[in-house]
Amino acid sequence: MALRDDQIGGQLIGSGWLAGQGEEFLSEPASGAARRFTSATSAEVDGAARAAEDAFAAFAATTAQHRARFLDRIAAEMRAREERITVIACAETGLPEARIRAEFARTTGQLRLFAQHALTRGWLDERHDPGLPTRIPPRPDLRLIQRPVGPVAVFAASNFPLAFSVAGGDTASALAVGCPVIVKAHQAHLATSEIVADAVDTARKAERLPPGTFALLQSATRMTGTALVTHPLVRAVGFTGSTVGGRALFDLCAARPEPIPFYGELGSVNPLFVLRGAGLRRGAEIARAWATSLTQGAGQFCTKPGLVILPAGEIAERFLQVAVEALAETPSQCMLSDTIAQGFRVSIARLEEKSGVVTGHNTVAKEGRDMGPVLLRTTADAFLADPEMAEEAFGPGGLAITVADPEEAVALARSLSGQLTATVHGDPEDQAEARALFGILERKAGRLIWNGFPTGVEVADAMVHGGPFPASTNFGHTSVGTLSIRRWLRPACYQDIPSGLTPVR
Ligand code: NAP
Repeated sequence: MALRDDQIGGQLIGSGWLAGQGEEFLSEPASGAARRFTSATSAEVDGAARAAEDAFAAFAATTAQHRARFLDRIAAEMRAREERITVIACAETGLPEARIRAEFARTTGQLRLFAQHALTRGWLDERHDPGLPTRIPPRPDLRLIQRPVGPVAVFAASNFPLAFSVAGGDTASALAVGCPVIVKAHQAHLATSEIVADAVDTARKAERLPPGTFALLQSATRMTGTALVTHPLVRAVGFTGSTVGGRALFDLCAARPEPIPFYGELGSVNPLFVLRGAGLRRGAEIARAWATSLTQGAGQFCTKPGLVILPAGEIAERFLQVAVEALAETPSQCMLSDTIAQGFRVSIARLEEKSGVVTGHNTVAKEGRDMGPVLLRTTADAFLADPEMAEEAFGPGGLAITVADPEEAVALARSLSGQLTATVHGDPEDQAEARALFGILERKAGRLIWNGFPTGVEVADAMVHGGPFPASTNFGHTSVGTLSIRRWLRPACYQDIPSGLTPVR
């Protein structure tokens, strides 16, 4: 049954849409009419988890070709709804149409990438130690293969209504390996979530996959997410969002009678170091590009380069002058939700109150969702004395830090917590300083960048979108790229088991 506009508001559980038994609430779109939704109850969470568990054995036993067809079909069903998705996603999030269309292409491309990746056997990590019956002691025949973990919960992100949401990377990677998925939609884009879920469900039915392979839960209460991560049939969780929310859900996963892995992609300030040679020769060019990267998508990217570290003196002053000029030309942009806009105001106000922080440029609106860019500045001394300055301000704002010498830049790098990315801009004469910095930064960040910018995360085999806490809750993994499927697998060893009894070839 295809979703019609007048059916929006319920939960997708098992074989189809349910009206929803929970409390009603209204969406808060950036433009257009609010829509009515219901919050998934704990009984509905239980229904989704049971249906996912019921689907698991059959879905895990499907061939890679079948799952690849499913993923390709989801992409096709999304394309069939592209105009509706674009209109609703723009209205809900306030993001411009060009951005939504680019994200749409990235999302369908990602689905196709995982379809292709499912067909390669590399991710199975097959290993074989042949039996040595005459050895003393004898060695049994051992075969290792990666197996899907079971039903997976995915928390959609506010800042990527498509690429990190209902049919985004977490969902695509889990479905690729045979894990049923239960998505907790994000309140910032509920109607978008429902249309995309309808595309996934239509593809599931067309591919004759079991009910329960995919579910969507909508909610305005924390109870839904809590019930989901503590449900005994849920085997792993994927999450993109705040450090506070992610930490709370991580702790719930760890405190379960049977703990499960929680793969949270949380906060990051993504430091960008400008070294002396590059600053002297290309400072103005780097400053303009930094201002663009900083304010792209109203600064609502987890890879926004929120900290720029500059050699004090002429290089820093020239850089900041050019950056302020570029920011002054950057128009206000609509933020994803009232809550996120307010969170940004609070973060900037808190930073401005700190001793040693001065405003280079501040066009933060006192109310509403339209937000102008902000540039604050401080010294390494002040920054090192106050760890709170290193907290993420989610929005179009950046903090410039001046360092007296390369040793201070190294001390600053050493002080940072885990990051998704760390960037160094340098010229050939900066090699020695760059080497010293990278030696520290590679222990801090999942992705290291030379003379580039961290926004624009390529979905590829070699991508790492993760890092030590608080960038992520699990530094051994990535939430972007084909390696992200490892989160939904566990190695199983088959000892002396004849072929035909196990999934091993
Ligand atoms: P969030 O508040 O962490 O929420 C993400 C999801 O987790 C939502 O579905 C939320 O449900 C749920 N959730 C959060 N805390 C929970 C709890 N204690 N128990 C149960 N469920 C919980 O993130 P957000 O709404 O996307 O944005 C808020 C802030 O997160 C931003 O201002 C920004 O600082 C940060 N953020 C960072 C990134 C990044 O990539 N680094 C991306 C997006 C957001 P509810 O909606 O019901 O609360």
